[in-house]
Amino acid sequence: LGSFFQPIQQLVQQYNTYQQGQSSVVKLRQLLSTRPEVAEAPGAVDLPRVEGEITFEDVSFGYLPDRPVISDVSLEIRASETVAFVGPTGAGKSTLAKLVTRFYDPSAGRILIDGRDLRDVRIESLRGQLGVVPQEPFLFAGPLRDNIRFATSDASDDRVWEAVRAVGLDEVVERLPDGLDTVVQERGQSLSSGERQLVALARAFLAQPRVLVLDEATSNLDLRSEARIESALDVLLEGRTAILIAHRLSTAMKADRVVVVDEGRIVETGSHDRLVAAGGAYARMYATWTSQAAEAG
Ligand code: ADP
Repeated sequence: LGSFFQPIQQLVQQYNTYQQGQSSVVKLRQLLSTRPEVAEAPGAVDLPRVEGEITFEDVSFGYLPDRPVISDVSLEIRASETVAFVGPTGAGKSTLAKLVTRFYDPSAGRILIDGRDLRDVRIESLRGQLGVVPQEPFLFAGPLRDNIRFATSDASDDRVWEAVRAVGLDEVVERLPDGLDTVVQERGQSLSSGERQLVALARAFLAQPRVLVLDEATSNLDLRSEARIESALDVLLEGRTAILIAHRLSTAMKADRVVVVDEGRIVETGSHDRLVAAGGAYARMYATWTSQAAEAG
């Protein structure tokens, strides 16, 4: 199925090959903002700083014309609310997130941010207020510092360190031979998958977006990274709207509200406690999670 924003990774890889080491973050950002799937509306306006209320109104979408992936989804996410999307693989969770970040537009219905249709605002001004943490964050070949301040290229070292500490990446940076000057590779051999996600969380902390969209890493996370990511989330979720694609019970439990997605539809929504008590799809997932956790000791 590929991870969230895989096309971007490919783009970045092509770009890296093309640029042969000239790490021009500005150009990279321009490249990322030109995406073929959605077109900017002629009268699109800049989105003013948002509170971060997100509304799905009868949204349907399919990657292919005759194969609906999202069917009739309606959901209101309040400003500063943390919502966790849970559900089986292929249910449509990442697709919902991609619609919010406007990698695609709905084929029917609308998505609103602070009451404005996403299609009416300039894509760059939308994305400037969104922090996206993909499952496999892309790093470009260049110093770790530039990778962290990817979205805020003028951030001072003090601010970079503040972000690094806030998300618990400091121990990792201190371990690296050249600290923030360490040149990381696209494939990131020097950093584990969990550490790469922490880099993306540090990016998001620096950019202070109004809305955070996070696709939690599914596998291969060492326990230390997992614990670090959990506490980084506590810092990052505070005061902003967040959509978490949750693969772990601990992440779902952080949310104000859990939204269970199955076959492109919302089948349940409510707090963790309420859904566990309701004994439906979420309660069954919860039972599986807890028994797995018990087995893992
Ligand atoms: P989840 O995040 O819940 O695992 P996804 O949103 O990734 O689910 O996928 C929902 C459905 O859309 C799946 O059937 C998947 O195969 C399909 N899909 C996802 N991305 C694409 C794509 N780029 N092109 C075609 N189909 C896709």
